[in-house]
Amino acid sequence: MGDRAAKIEAWVKKRPYLEEIAKLHVILAAVEEESASLESEAVPDLSGRKGVLEELQKGIPLLRGEQVDGAILEKAAALLEKMAEALVKAPLTEKINLSARQAGNAFKKEDDLARQVISAVLESAAPGSSNADLGEADEGFIIFLAWRALSGALKPLQGQLATLLEGQLRWRRGYCPLCGQLPAMGHLVRPGKGKGRERNLLCSCCGMSWSYQRIGCPFCGNTEQKQLNIIGLDNEPSLRIDTCDGCGAYLKTYTGEGEEGVALADWSTLHLDLVAQEKGFKRTGYQMYTL
Ligand SMILES: [Zn+2]
Ligand SMILES: [Zn+2]
Repeated sequence: MGDRAAKIEAWVKKRPYLEEIAKLHVILAAVEEESASLESEAVPDLSGRKGVLEELQKGIPLLRGEQVDGAILEKAAALLEKMAEALVKAPLTEKINLSARQAGNAFKKEDDLARQVISAVLESAAPGSSNADLGEADEGFIIFLAWRALSGALKPLQGQLATLLEGQLRWRRGYCPLCGQLPAMGHLVRPGKGKGRERNLLCSCCGMSWSYQRIGCPFCGNTEQKQLNIIGLDNEPSLRIDTCDGCGAYLKTYTGEGEEGVALADWSTLHLDLVAQEKGFKRTGYQMYTL
């Protein structure tokens, strides 16, 4: 068992209600790892690209700016098809098996469908609203898988963008510098000995992370201390929910160390979404997972 899988297992042992969704993610991670090991990485070199820095400085996320690289779309589309295929017979719920089979059938019927779905998702459009024929396939399931495939295909680009953001450019916005979606998680990190904690935000869609001001709501920019509160959880000392009375949004936040690989995954803190929503706060970004 890999280190990552062992960490997921330890996490789920303490939170057995996450068992099914964890199984799903372990399977998808294996598909991603396998296909990454098969490919030679043809990553577009950002530093050599004209206009990349200028667009980011204007606040335009990388994948919303210039033409999205065709190789990335192809890679994500191939991964999407593989992921659907892997879920057809996976030991998961019948509903997931059925959704995967329907998605696979739709992909078989139309050669270019997976790529069209990936493009639509990146543009925040519903994949079924264009000419793409999803057949009986469940759109929500396809969107979920498409983002999961994209986050895999975009990994090499994330590393390059992170370097760029740390160096020449400080992106301090409340949305993802790579895909433009809103964050689902915050992460308090200690940059070095003797330094105060800083905050990173994590995109729930593509998995990118970036730094953001420590205090303030990333969704509406509110910095009024009285309106920014924290919901703590007795049985989750390394997690909390940051809320904003200004816009009614919440951000799940990991304050611990050592479990980043699983704690920041969004699906692993679904129970926090329930708590926040029960208290009347709304999830502002995508919510792709349901219990
Ligand atoms: Zn993103
Ligand atoms: Zn707010």
